[in-house]
Amino acid sequence: MTRSWAIALALSCLCFGLAADGCGPRREGQPKVQSASSDPDDARRARMVETQIQARGVRDPRVLAAMRKVPRHLFVDAAERGRAYEDHPLPIAGSQTISQPYIVALMTELLELPEKARVLEIGTGSGYQSAVLGELAAEVYSIEIVPTLARSATEKLKQLGYANVTVREGDGYRGWPEHAPFDGIIVTAAPERIPEPLLEQLGPGGRMVIPVGGFFQELKVFTKQADGRVVEKDVLPVRFVPMTGEVESQPTPKD
Ligand code: SAH
Repeated sequence: MTRSWAIALALSCLCFGLAADGCGPRREGQPKVQSASSDPDDARRARMVETQIQARGVRDPRVLAAMRKVPRHLFVDAAERGRAYEDHPLPIAGSQTISQPYIVALMTELLELPEKARVLEIGTGSGYQSAVLGELAAEVYSIEIVPTLARSATEKLKQLGYANVTVREGDGYRGWPEHAPFDGIIVTAAPERIPEPLLEQLGPGGRMVIPVGGFFQELKVFTKQADGRVVEKDVLPVRFVPMTGEVESQPTPKD
């Protein structure tokens, strides 16, 4: 599949509400999601990974294993379960969306998480992306601004045994300084400009993956080098729900 085709599909599918195995041994205290062999949705997930994710170039075996393992259908409304493994985003409560599987996998891969990583997520939503991160990282901290979503994601992640994922209700604009520095920060709602406090909470070598823009958005990766300098890279045009809260009162960029 060509990259432009993938881009077009990502754009047309992402966040419709607005616009776009474990292969290693399980460690003590790690998620207790059913093993793949006893999961009736295993085949649906395997097909999703092969046709939507690997086919578009996601290669990291840990990311592919997590995408094969996390039960996406349990993070969407009961009425949407039959469509949970399809190649598009789905509505969740509060007029928000759970991203297209490919975008979840791509953003996770772009974080290039080291072993025993500590990760911050802004925009918990359904908790699905948090669970995928929970498969790869030692500690995941996730902030959600919509109280009902924060509560339901907390409950869901607890039920599924993701003891290494902590969700808090609030505005993620100022990050979670008590747990900084982070090896990776992932933002799943789009601000018009980069929230500076988030960049500050990135550790040396850390990466922030974030969609930036208004109607037209670009998925970007910011990498903090050992000397503290930050390098910015554009990845793909995308469409996410807007980041709300404090970021909306920040001056918009001049360019
Ligand atoms: N990662 C989610 C996708 C959620 S959509 C999933 O896997 O389901 C983006 C989410 O960002 C929405 O739930 C929205 O309420 C939340 N959000 C928007 N602005 C925010 C902010 N300032 N702080 C925290 N969450 C925010």
